[in-house]
Amino acid sequence: MTSQQIESRLADVALPVPVERSFSYLVPESLAGAVAPGRRVLCTIGVRRVVGVVISVRQGEPPPRAKPLLDVLEGIALPPDLVSFLSRVAAYYLAPIGEVVRLALPPADRDAERAVSTPTLFSTTKGVAPRKIQWVTSTSIVESSVKAKTASVLAYVRAHGALPISRLEAQFGGARATVRRLVEQGLLSLFEREAPRDPFFAEPVAMDEPPEPTRAQCEAFAAIEGALTSKVATTFLLHGVTGSGKTEVYLRAIAAAKKLGCGTIVLVPEIALTPQLVGRFRARFGDDVAVLHSALTARERFDMWMRLVRGEVDVAIGARSALFAPIANLGLVIVDEEHDPSFKQEEGVRYHARDMSMLRAHMRGGVCVLGSATPSLETEQLSRLGKVKKLTLPDRARAQEMPKVEIIDLRAIGPGPTGDRKLSLLLHRAIEETLAKNEQVILFLNRRGFAPSVRCESCGELASCPQCSVALTFHKRFGGRSAGDAVGPSGIMRCHWCDYAAKIPPRCPKCSSDRVALEGLGTEKLEETLGEAFPRARVARLDRDVARGKDIEKVLARVRSREIDILVGTQMVTKGHDLPHVTLVGVINADAALSIPDFRASERAFQLLVQVAGRAGRGDAKGRVLVQTYDPEHHAIAFAVRHDVPGFLERELKDRRELLYPPFSRMALARVDSLDEAAAQKAAAEIARAARVVAREGSLDVLGPAVAPIAKVRNRFRFRVMLKSVSRSRLRQGMLAVQGVMSRLPRTVRAAIDVDPVGLL
Ligand code: ADP
Ligand code: ZN
Ligand code: ZN
Repeated sequence: MTSQQIESRLADVALPVPVERSFSYLVPESLAGAVAPGRRVLCTIGVRRVVGVVISVRQGEPPPRAKPLLDVLEGIALPPDLVSFLSRVAAYYLAPIGEVVRLALPPADRDAERAVSTPTLFSTTKGVAPRKIQWVTSTSIVESSVKAKTASVLAYVRAHGALPISRLEAQFGGARATVRRLVEQGLLSLFEREAPRDPFFAEPVAMDEPPEPTRAQCEAFAAIEGALTSKVATTFLLHGVTGSGKTEVYLRAIAAAKKLGCGTIVLVPEIALTPQLVGRFRARFGDDVAVLHSALTARERFDMWMRLVRGEVDVAIGARSALFAPIANLGLVIVDEEHDPSFKQEEGVRYHARDMSMLRAHMRGGVCVLGSATPSLETEQLSRLGKVKKLTLPDRARAQEMPKVEIIDLRAIGPGPTGDRKLSLLLHRAIEETLAKNEQVILFLNRRGFAPSVRCESCGELASCPQCSVALTFHKRFGGRSAGDAVGPSGIMRCHWCDYAAKIPPRCPKCSSDRVALEGLGTEKLEETLGEAFPRARVARLDRDVARGKDIEKVLARVRSREIDILVGTQMVTKGHDLPHVTLVGVINADAALSIPDFRASERAFQLLVQVAGRAGRGDAKGRVLVQTYDPEHHAIAFAVRHDVPGFLERELKDRRELLYPPFSRMALARVDSLDEAAAQKAAAEIARAARVVAREGSLDVLGPAVAPIAKVRNRFRFRVMLKSVSRSRLRQGMLAVQGVMSRLPRTVRAAIDVDPVGLL
């Protein structure tokens, strides 16, 4: 057989280039032993040297002009199971494998840089030496007799496997001396590890005593543990009301995974908002928790990555990108607040971390736990189909009652003493009462679709961004940037999609009227109104403009230490903070989110309302929630007020089924943009035409081409084509047709396919 003779050993390599496929290289005899999936290799593309990652190795007929691999890099290698997962992600999202692989590689890949610039140097030394700390672990020697205190230290170390001495010292005063004696007796041994350098680990945390679980927690945990032990790939929906103790179930599940020698990934919507959660993980598992967050330096990320690969750390917590953490022997993936839209990446590889976490766990025969008080309709539907097992925590863990939620119908109730319609008399009185009792208030302003804008009162012209076709947002105080010279209280107008900023014009550019006025109400304005109405209250604001990363925690810490009486904020205040002295939550504009042109608008509005209501009454005092709305009959608001999650899910699923929206169909959005409007439009039309050819065979709806709801961003004109189908395979055929067109578009047009889109604007 001649074909046998020309077969040779080939490596399919993912390269950092935006091409969907991998590239095949010949494996030279000298490298045959070292080339394996996950290994990084030096190769050439054109005349360039690049570092790629081996996806697979096979025997086969080499493609014409196949080049040999130049070398295999030492140091970083992706675990093979992670490589298979990445291939599946790339296939599912029709994304270039090179870009997907990059999501999983640590940054600051000095080895790769060095290899590319000076290909003879394959040093793996990693620059500065990190600080070392002393750890202690037990040995296999059995003691004859030890004193009581010594025995408890010994038992503690044995129970934890290994831990830093400082932690032992925090638990038992004078533990160092005890450890020294035990080391001399051969019962303990010492070793060094790199110290974590990280803001999340700045403060020491005392170990906690796990609370006695409630019956519901026990049942949920037993189901998860059973699946972990039997290694039957299972996804659970942990549906628990806010404060029901979902986190306690996660902690127990992680402990069970550890016992089985398995690692865990925990995904949270926004790591900067969850220092409390991280604290609880450290209190249970010590500092052997990798927290992956944006404040880490490249070097710290790299260190963390290596510790995960080596299995020194077996729990990784982070936002969506932690999905790609190289956890060794992964057995459990937990997604907290699984309904949160931030799990969807909206640029580059547009993956959904919740969906892919199910896949990642499944591929390992592991367990995936999706936790939420307000499950997404996707997950709820999967549980109804029996593909996801639902576990329920129906009550708050510490026997607190759920807060009482009351509606304030703004059509009937007028403004309070401030005269501001958005601060009704009832809400004003409730704030007064709460402050008088020395308790705290959270006011939630939904800013989606409700930013303060500038409008001409004569002709109605709305000030909008010349580059993005969206309304500009008014900002009163503004730190630095180009428009810092704004005069007095007039402030500036800013685009939230690009960096455009401008002063408020004295006259309307359209009709020259001087009646240019502010419209709407932002968090800044509300903060100011409250300051005037309650001069003795300490008011703070939490939104994207004031708080990023560590600042968020500073604001929350001040609320916790009761230096703040009223916290005003956007979506950020709805997240899972546990603030025990907050007894009043006011929702300023419950219906704002409902006007967004998105089939998930009701779902998002409902989730936000339930989440923010859950912030009230988490301590001993009973909580109260006031919801201001112009549309109290809307089902999203009515069900939220009654805490009726099952009722909402039932109703919303019915609506979705009627209109064949997800989860009853699947969608893919082809996005096109260009500086050249005609070119973008033409491309969108071609895409739609190609998709319609597939649609002719049935079971595929093609909507568009249409101008995107936000028609222009940074001067690029945006068009889109929506594909919708009840059949996954038919949708895929449509996408492949679209992809074919996209690969032939002119360079001036940017195009991307968004599979299972979340953000539709
Ligand atoms: P969730 O994540 O569901 O919002 P948490 O896990 O934050 O709820 O729990 C809410 C509060 O109840 C926390 O303060 C937690 O320490 C406490 N808690 C959880 N489980 C128990 C339990 N079994 N017994 C007593 N307190 C508990
Ligand atoms: Zn005008
Ligand atoms: Zn703009």
